[in-house]
Formats: sequence, C-alpha cells, structure tokens
Amino acid sequence: MIVTQTVRLKLAVDGAHDSALAETVRQYATAFNAVAAAGWKTKTTNGVKLHQQTYRSLRVALDLPSQLVISARMKAVEALKSARERAKQGRKVGCPQTAKPAIRFDARSYRFDWNGIVHLTVIGGRIKVAFLLDRHSETFKGLKTHSADFVRKPKGWFLHVVVEKEVPDVQETGKTVGVDRGVKRPAVTSDGQFLGNPRWRAVEERFLALRRRLQGKGTRSARRHLARLNDRLARFHRDCDHVLSKRLVRSVSPGDTLVFEDLTNIRDNAKACGKANRRRLHSWSFARLGSFVSYKAALRSVNIAAVNPRDTSRRCPMCGWIDKKNRRTQSTFRCVRCGYERNADLVGSWNIRDRHEGLWSPVSEAPGRVNSPNVEGMHISSASPGL
Ligand SMILES: [Zn+2]
Repeated sequence: MIVTQTVRLKLAVDGAHDSALAETVRQYATAFNAVAAAGWKTKTTNGVKLHQQTYRSLRVALDLPSQLVISARMKAVEALKSARERAKQGRKVGCPQTAKPAIRFDARSYRFDWNGIVHLTVIGGRIKVAFLLDRHSETFKGLKTHSADFVRKPKGWFLHVVVEKEVPDVQETGKTVGVDRGVKRPAVTSDGQFLGNPRWRAVEERFLALRRRLQGKGTRSARRHLARLNDRLARFHRDCDHVLSKRLVRSVSPGDTLVFEDLTNIRDNAKACGKANRRRLHSWSFARLGSFVSYKAALRSVNIAAVNPRDTSRRCPMCGWIDKKNRRTQSTFRCVRCGYERNADLVGSWNIRDRHEGLWSPVSEAPGRVNSPNVEGMHISSASPGL
C-alpha cells in the first residue's frame, strides 16, 4: 500500500527572491481567477476546454511561466468541481476566486533535494531556496516527493510537500489498545504503558505563569516578549505531540488498533470539557496530536479508531457501574458499588478499549443518565485486574 503525507517546510527566502515570489503569487491568482471565471460563465469544468479558452491570452497578459499557468488552470478546475459538488448538495456557491492562492508546483516546476535545497520555477526564472528540516519533517527525509503547495503565511513562506512511502500490507491482528490522556502522564494505554514525559506539565505551567505576568504589564517590550514566548510555547506543544505520537504508535505492533476518545464534539463545548479535562495535559492540542498519530500510524500499518468519550472515566471496568463518585480524585478510581480501586487513567484506557470492542452493556451505551438496577445483567469486561 502507498501512504502519502504532507510535510510542511519553512523556506529561508531572501529579499530578492521575496519580491519575485510575491509577484508570482499575484499573477498566479490572476490566472486562477480568469480560468475560474471562464468556467463559471460557460458552466464547464472541462480542463481541456478551459485550457483552450484561456491559455494563450494568459501567456500574453502575464509573465507567469507556462508550467504555472497550467498549474493555476488545474487548481481552478478543481475549485470549480468542488463548487459544483457543493451546489449539488443544495449549498449556495459563487464563482471561485482567490487573492492568496497556494501555488501548486510539480515535477515540471520544482526540484526537491532533502539536503535542504528546493529549486522553484517562478517569474524571472528558476530560483534556489533553502529550508531546514525540523523534528517533524526529519521523519520523512529521503522519501519520494510529489507535488508541493507553496503558501505565504504571516510567519513566512512555506512549502507543503506531498511525500509517499510504500508500506507493506499487514493483516489486522485483532488486538485493540485503548489510550487515555493521563493526569500524571500525558498518555496511558490499556496495556499499562505510561507514555510521555511527566515533567511536561511543569514546563507548561512555567510558560503559562510567565505569560500571565507579561499579559499584566502591557508595555511594548512586554508585548514583544509575549509574542516570543507564545512562539516558544507553540513549539514546545508541537514537540511534545511529536514525541507522544511516536511513542504511542511504537507501543503497539503493525496490524494492531489504537483506540482514542473521540473529542471532536467536546472541543466545541467548553462545559462538557469540565475541570478534569482542562487539567489534563495536552487538552490544548488533541486535534494535532490526533493528526500526528494518524500519519505515524499509517506509516507503520497501525489502525486508528475513536469512541464516544462519555462516561469512560466513570465506569467501573469490573462491574460496569457508572457513577461520578467512582472518580474520587484526579488520579484514583474507586467503584462505589464493588469497591474496585485502580489508577484512574488506566481505568479510562480500559473503558475506551472495551467500548470499542463492544463490551459495554447496552444500558451504558444508552443516551442520558444511566445507572440503576439494570447493572445486574452487565457484561464483565476483559480488563485485567492483575495489571
Ligand atoms: Zn465496580
């Protein structure tokens, strides 16, 4: 199986190249908008037709190299097609237009060297631009590259390179491992592995305390300092996510399935997060951690699944009793019904695994408040008390 991923690289663009690139982006937008408008007017998404309609006049009007005129047309055709799809779903759409396009480079318009140089064909000719590999992009070093999208962000120029890797087809092992985000450790697996550095939280607390002090000041130098601090904090979070996602994926074998809480709905709902969740390390970046985990998992033939997080921290893995009071403290779980006591994060990871395996009783899966006499008939889960 071929797995493709996108690697984001920051480019070191100097002054002279900067203006050439800015002008290239501007003209690329013009070409894109002209093709999109033509397709919109004549109600076509046919690339060949649109090429015939627009290519010559764009080449005359613009300095854009021919490869990029073609690339802009291809992107405009994609945009027209997706607009048509949205219209079919009954959504209101207008003619696709852009002021800040991502330029699509391909084999004809760029050459990529993992040693830190990329050659780009832009207005005025081919330029050489340097880039640095960070901890994240190092993972992909040497892989075969495909097209790349070139974008300007407030923090500079970036190249999003699509890379591919041949991954052997692996049979599913049928083994599932639940992952809970821990209180004391960033992640806990149902195999009993505590992953991530326990000191991360202290480091983060120091950042946050310093940030609060600076926010209170409001002077110009404090604001500058604050901006730098926010950058460092963001980099720290990103690094933590890389380390953690790597450990998680390495903690299982190819063919196994890692199961997470599906937090997509909770993120939009501050109330549902609750104090307990806010205190957990990594609550800030679950979306990113999830994306890091999923590409690393794909490269290692590990499967990913998500389950509803409701009651995963409150359910007793022994008797199935669900109760807020089961979670006596942040770190200790003690069932008020059967007395079973265990590390709360470990219990969470078992519940996540067991829900995925369908071992929760139908009663606990019902919406709304559960608990009551029905627990008598509950399925005893496969959680291993001996861990
Ligand atoms: Zn119990």
